[in-house]
Amino acid sequence: MHTLTVRTPSHNYPIYIGRDLLDSAHKLLKPHLGKKAAVITNETIAPLYLEKIQTALTRAGVPHFSIILPDGEEHKNWQTLNLIFDGLMTHRAERKTTLIALGGGVIGDMVGFAAATYQRGAPFIQIPTTLLSQVDSSVGGKTAINHPLGKNMIGAFYQPQAVLADLATLQSLPPRELAAGMAEVVKYGALGDSTFFEWLEQNMADLMAQQPDKLAQAVYHCCKMKADIVADDETEQGIRAWLNLGHTFGHAIEAEMGYGVWLHGEAVAAGCVLAGRLSEQLGTLAPEDTRRIAALMQAAGLPAEPPCFPFEHWIAHMSHDKKVESGIMRFIGLNRIGQANITEITDTDILHRTLSPYLP
Ligand code: NAD
Ligand code: MG
Repeated sequence: MHTLTVRTPSHNYPIYIGRDLLDSAHKLLKPHLGKKAAVITNETIAPLYLEKIQTALTRAGVPHFSIILPDGEEHKNWQTLNLIFDGLMTHRAERKTTLIALGGGVIGDMVGFAAATYQRGAPFIQIPTTLLSQVDSSVGGKTAINHPLGKNMIGAFYQPQAVLADLATLQSLPPRELAAGMAEVVKYGALGDSTFFEWLEQNMADLMAQQPDKLAQAVYHCCKMKADIVADDETEQGIRAWLNLGHTFGHAIEAEMGYGVWLHGEAVAAGCVLAGRLSEQLGTLAPEDTRRIAALMQAAGLPAEPPCFPFEHWIAHMSHDKKVESGIMRFIGLNRIGQANITEITDTDILHRTLSPYLP
């Protein structure tokens, strides 16, 4: 098992990474639990892993109850959040009741936000069960729900007490979801670590086959990178923005296609390649680097090109992005593999040139 400590101004907390950790969850969770626990999951994950958590809590001697939510990004909203509060109120959860998020990023984000606001702040623990949530959403303390007019628009920065990433849970993950998580893994290499990027190039087949040691190494490395970045910049004033590599283009793809048609990671994969192409247009990146990013995304079974849709739609989607500040579009670009930059675009011609191969 690897243990990583995340240091933030609010508090420090551990991330445990390893195989079959749910089997020793009673020991791992015990020091981080309050008087009572609420396990919050969804109807897909409950039949797979809820019983293990319930058993662990019973063994740890902590009274608990469970709340099972509908599955899907379309339920990451106010109505579902209220189901969490209904369950907490019905079971008379107190401020010292620990909320346990068992699931992917949707569950983690919603439960985190519920924890941030329930009785002005209840402790919570993340048990991420998708690759994306293990390498990305469970680290860093961003929590949110969606608003009908925008994704993740209502939320809070709120850190968990602990994160427990059991790699064995990834075996039940649909292959497309595994690949989507891998897009974020590749993103880490591209934005900040060329050695890791090269290691991914050499090991992608083993990673996709879930070779245990290599998968653990990759998850650990990504969590470490994100934790270090977040420690420097918890509320995204500076370099935390680098983690958005590929995301401005990616969000446009998701919005255009309709959420869920392209998975987030699939859109980010194509988005990272577009970020490379934009940097080529700006003269900061060599075409060979973009080619390597595209090849690595494809090796993970991910798209390296966006779908075709009109330029005006791209601009409309990208100007709704949270990263837009006073009409200037901010992109995360690259100087080379392993070094990102923040690029401000006011001249849309350069975006037109970047996207021209994919315009109708
Ligand atoms: P998800 O939570 O929707 O999970 C994907 C699907 O896999 C769901 O159907 C889920 O029920 C299922 N699933 C989860 N674990 C499983 C398992 N072990 N076996 C079988 N099925 C399983 O999606 P996700 O990709 O994990 O997360 C996406 C969400 O994360 C988005 O809402 C996004 O906004 C958010 N996010 C947040 C942050 C952050 O910093 N907070 C970062 C990145 C993404
Ligand atoms: Mg992402």
